[in-house]
Amino acid sequence: MSDTIEHIVIVGGGSAGWLAAGVLAAEHRLRVTLIESPDVPAIGVGEGTWPSMRDTLHRMGVSESAFVRACEVSFKQGSRFNGWVTGAPDDYYYHPFSLPEGWYDANLAAAWQTSHRNVPFADLVSFQPHLCTHGRAPKQFSTPEFAAVANYGYHLDAGKFGLFLREHCVGKLGVRHVLDHVDAIRSHENGDVAALATRKSGLLEGDLFIDCTGLQSLLLGKHYGVPFVSQRHVLFNDRALAVQLPYASEDAPIGSHTSATAQAAGWIWDIGLPARRGVGHVYSSAHTSDEQAERALRAYVEATGGQGKATEDMPTPRKLSFEPGYRERFWHRNVVAIGLSAGFIEPLEASALALVEMSAAWLADDMPVTRAQMDLVASRFNEAFTYRWECVIDFLKLHYVLSKRSSAFWTDHRATGSIPERLRERLQLWRTRPPSRRDFSRIEEAFPTASWQYVLYGMGFRTEQAPRASDRPELADAAFRDTARLTAKMLPALPTNRELIAHILKTR
Ligand SMILES: Cc1cc2nc3c(=O)[nH]c(=O)nc-3n(C[C@H](O)[C@H](O)[C@H](O)COP(=O)(O)OP(=O)(O)OC[C@H]3O[C@@H](n4cnc5c(N)ncnc54)[C@H](O)[C@@H]3O)c2cc1C
Repeated sequence: MSDTIEHIVIVGGGSAGWLAAGVLAAEHRLRVTLIESPDVPAIGVGEGTWPSMRDTLHRMGVSESAFVRACEVSFKQGSRFNGWVTGAPDDYYYHPFSLPEGWYDANLAAAWQTSHRNVPFADLVSFQPHLCTHGRAPKQFSTPEFAAVANYGYHLDAGKFGLFLREHCVGKLGVRHVLDHVDAIRSHENGDVAALATRKSGLLEGDLFIDCTGLQSLLLGKHYGVPFVSQRHVLFNDRALAVQLPYASEDAPIGSHTSATAQAAGWIWDIGLPARRGVGHVYSSAHTSDEQAERALRAYVEATGGQGKATEDMPTPRKLSFEPGYRERFWHRNVVAIGLSAGFIEPLEASALALVEMSAAWLADDMPVTRAQMDLVASRFNEAFTYRWECVIDFLKLHYVLSKRSSAFWTDHRATGSIPERLRERLQLWRTRPPSRRDFSRIEEAFPTASWQYVLYGMGFRTEQAPRASDRPELADAAFRDTARLTAKMLPALPTNRELIAHILKTR
């Protein structure tokens, strides 16, 4: 057993495995091998990303236009939540990716609440919801790769993404790809993993093993038995029905945001890719049956399919089951779990790939040089990512606890015992002051303070704060005027999402 870390072995060729391989191989001179089973397919869902994916791809040396062409990519500027508060037809709010105008200058929430409550908070403080409403792209034809006029992430085809990353990692970054099934694990005397026993390729030895085996969690969960911390008592969704639908016409608009529409026992995502929509109902099996969930999905497709798409045209949905939660530790001995093997909560706010990116980046930045250093790095990693998972859970729960919807799924979400203590405390504080940077003081928070404000005030929360000199209402008013000015300027200046994608596809 060598003390120096020279060879990293990644098990799993889904998005997590290839993203980890790409980030590590791009930044280190270590040997990187990725093994994936020809018999266990990648999960094949996961179509929404955060803006962080731009940095991740850039870090790996990917060309953005090659990525757009290969992976059926469209540009995503945030999410629109329909019907989450009351379910009324005019009940919606946006969580855009761009920071509000004047974010650092004034107490925007106070000024919005005092004088502009008839306008949705995000629509008043950011031009981005207006770009989304009008299907505009976040950049112009001439904007350089990965640069933005408005902050953006992507919608993509998960299957094509995996293949694209594989080609890049193997062809450009020298990652060794082994297509074989891992049958057993061999250990050193001290308990570290020494090698993977494969069906055809013999023993595969390594110094550090990255478990990207998806929900199987082969190394961390099955081999080491690191406990799974279920979050079913906090967030109830555990099933999804997913379909891919054609557009009603070739030139139908491509949404520039993920649409999330509340249902009686869950919610439906609607994602626009260049040649198709990806639509799925995520729901709680404790609150509805699979049949009812499928009926709700069909009703949604009928209502939104447009131009005569009958529900009988809807293909049979693919059913996915998952247990919301995460592992008690993510790095144990010489194994780090990244992706579904580390945990999964639910698709809301598309945080899973973002956590994969954060884990890969951490590992690349803090790669232990020797085995002796590894336990130190591991304990810091475990502390940081436990905090991140907890924050993701709090943030997702926020979307449910302020709803006024009345079915059991929603009232159960509001039950005090289901709300994590830290979120309860924060909600109490935010009754008298808005979320501030003090609440989220780590350097790399999963969700920035602005995101908490977008969702909190989008859901109709009231902060009863006595006016303060530091509120600077005149600066808040200037920021609201800036938003209106920027909206008027950008709407005619930006192409539609479809026009920008067509331009990129044309310029080979
Ligand atoms: C319904 C749903 C919607 C989602 N939506 C989003 C979203 O919008 N945004 C987002 O960020 N995330 C989303 N996710 C999560 C996202 O799909 C995953 O985080 C992402 O695809 C990464 O998966 P993975 O690579 O960890 O696992 P997988 O894709 O399952 O890959 C597992 C890999 O392990 C390999 N493997 C397994 N066993 C063995 C073995 N014995 N030997 C060798 N190889 C093995 C398999 O061959 C496969 O290559 C969603 C998830 C679900 C369930």
